[in-house]
Amino acid sequence: MQQVRITGPFTFQTEEAPIPEIGTHEALLKINCIGVCASDMQIYHGKHKFMRYPVILGHEVAATVEKTGGAVSGFVSGDKVTIEPQVFCGECFPCESGRFNVCENLSVIGVHQDGCSREYIALDSKYLHKVPPSMQTELITLVEPFAVGVGSVRRSSRLNGANVTVVGAGTIGNFTAQAAKALGAGKVLITDISQGKLDWAAECGIDYCVNTREKNLKEVIGNCFGKDRADVIIDCAAVPAGFKSIMEAARPCSEIIVTGNYKEPVEFNVPLLQRQEVSMIGHMMYVREDYQIAIELLAGGKIRTEKTITRVFPFNEYAKAFEYADVNPDSIMKLLIMV
Ligand SMILES: [Zn+2]
Ligand SMILES: [Zn+2]
Repeated sequence: MQQVRITGPFTFQTEEAPIPEIGTHEALLKINCIGVCASDMQIYHGKHKFMRYPVILGHEVAATVEKTGGAVSGFVSGDKVTIEPQVFCGECFPCESGRFNVCENLSVIGVHQDGCSREYIALDSKYLHKVPPSMQTELITLVEPFAVGVGSVRRSSRLNGANVTVVGAGTIGNFTAQAAKALGAGKVLITDISQGKLDWAAECGIDYCVNTREKNLKEVIGNCFGKDRADVIIDCAAVPAGFKSIMEAARPCSEIIVTGNYKEPVEFNVPLLQRQEVSMIGHMMYVREDYQIAIELLAGGKIRTEKTITRVFPFNEYAKAFEYADVNPDSIMKLLIMV
């Protein structure tokens, strides 16, 4: 079988490898499609903090079960699946309290260890989620990024009926805003400086889609939601200067959920946080329940995705997908690679 490995910044190598043998708890998966993620692009640029070259990327996955080991139950050959790529220790405090997404020994498949940019992979069946047989391959690949959105809105303690602001209308921001609506938020505002992404968010039914290129976030939130402003602000943009405006836009008792991946530490106004009793909530990936909700909503046709997939590349143009993402950062949402 073929596999593609990244060996250094901007450098991929296609390799011939044997189809892996499976252990008793493992399933052999035929990979059908993978997604290119912002974190893959950080690795492509040599800017990801927690990985080492060489590695096989690929953590957003649609696959078919080819065969299963003797101890595997719940999966049979032919099942369509996606993978939840978090390999956790099961023994640290977060693992024991069900937050294995922040396991102290977390290793992510396709980031810290070899992922799914290959024709076949052997994986422990505990990382698999079955999806409905009728679910489209492209949609299955979107479960992982959509689960990030589901996970981030579920970090809020007050989502029901809440006025929610999502900063950033890229794939994760769009999915977070759609997840907020699907899971019971009141009105949802999304902001960005890319008009194309805002137009798509509007088509997805987001209540307010505002270009903040020349506008102040606090005023925008006030104009949309009135004097009570936003109950919850979810930061999917991870722009340091933007974080300052999120702090200033927060109302007393607002929740700020940080979902975007900041590359560097950011200074912010601690006195404002204290005096306004703002709750600052970090969010990382998802837990198992988020995945199940994500599959239900996507498979149930509850989430708009027609324009989420900007372009699909064949496996033999693997590097081209990354080059394309590199030169079109503002106009793409999600790129997929069919394997
Ligand atoms: Zn991803
Ligand atoms: Zn752990």
